[in-house]
Amino acid sequence: MHIPIRKIIFCTIMITLAYFSLSGCMPVTNATESPKTVLPSSMENNAAASKTDVATYSVNPSEDGSYYVELFAMDTEMTLKVYGNHGREAALAAVREIQRFDHLFSTGLSDSCVSTLNAQKKAIWPEDAITVLTEALALYKSTDGAFNISLYPINQAWGFTSDTDYRIPGDTELEALIQHTNCEDILLQEEERQVVISDPDMEIDLGGIVKGFTSNRVMEIFEEYGCESAVVSLGGNVQVLHRKPDGSLWKIAVQNPVDDGNYLAVIQAEDKAVITSGGYERYFVDDNGTVYHHIMDPATGYPANSGLLSVSIISDDGTLADGLSTALFVLGEEKAIDYWRQHADTFDTILYTDDHRLLASGGLKDRITSDTHAVIFFE
Ligand code: ADP
Ligand code: MG
Repeated sequence: MHIPIRKIIFCTIMITLAYFSLSGCMPVTNATESPKTVLPSSMENNAAASKTDVATYSVNPSEDGSYYVELFAMDTEMTLKVYGNHGREAALAAVREIQRFDHLFSTGLSDSCVSTLNAQKKAIWPEDAITVLTEALALYKSTDGAFNISLYPINQAWGFTSDTDYRIPGDTELEALIQHTNCEDILLQEEERQVVISDPDMEIDLGGIVKGFTSNRVMEIFEEYGCESAVVSLGGNVQVLHRKPDGSLWKIAVQNPVDDGNYLAVIQAEDKAVITSGGYERYFVDDNGTVYHHIMDPATGYPANSGLLSVSIISDDGTLADGLSTALFVLGEEKAIDYWRQHADTFDTILYTDDHRLLASGGLKDRITSDTHAVIFFE
């Protein structure tokens, strides 16, 4: 008998201390229940009314001149806050695009492009989906397989795809499933936009990267609408457009995985994604108190146990940040630092270790503060 625990994160990374109320952004724990949305009552009708009808979303103007919208998509809470003359239209266009991506990449909808590929092992995908897949496969290569989109059957075996039937699969079962996780078996014919999976037992899931891809796209939309400033949180994955309207940098707080009451650190940023992965986001606990979480080590088929409690990635590129937060969490401290050294021009990172050391890459020296930890920089 295992006790399922699902942390429902309204906003795992608290955004902009100045602009969002603290209470609205704290995580909400919901024990022994299947996932439940935590929406302010004003939003409940909107969310329930339709996942596709963007007109049902109210975009609320705030006193500070911004437009604000909340929605539930990709199995998580999302918030968008945007400044500028066309903020309302921009926010609605962003909601529409988020819903489109939600449909494209959902493993729960049988007609999504991911489900179609998983069922038929061959599919023509829209350009956006091809772009995500290309980036996911590039990360598979550059991280020596730590980022692996073919772990879906393994996640399913653990119960993380339903969040209700948690179990610990046997070693023989996991060894059999690991045989079908070689991403070289995913063949991409870019010109035809065709994807083929040559292993009949492989199934993929882009959940480790799509939210970052989506926040990138939302920033592009905001720029197309000429917005002067914006901040979005897609289930705690934060991305900001430019600076705050007053010209100062955005402040993005990183959640402490072991202490809900205190932030680990605050990052100052402009035009950046700040994306965190941690074993505390979705997990269950067995009778012995052992925690099993949703980020899998492709080498073992078990939840990654690399000595890290969370990894944050700070980058211009949300897709990269999302994929890498998952990958470096799997790789662990030493390999994550090595990886950063080889790619320091594309991202910065914060590693929080299980002995509670707060490590940050050198690029963050003037951008990170912590009230609770001494920051240890690496170069
Ligand atoms: P979240 O999506 O919860 O914010 P992540 O970005 O770290 O957190 O993604 C975790 C999700 O990615 C899992 O729920 C699963 O769908 C998928 N996943 C798990 N392990 C891996 C891995 N090693 N490589 C790629 N994707 C993974
Ligand atoms: Mg990720």
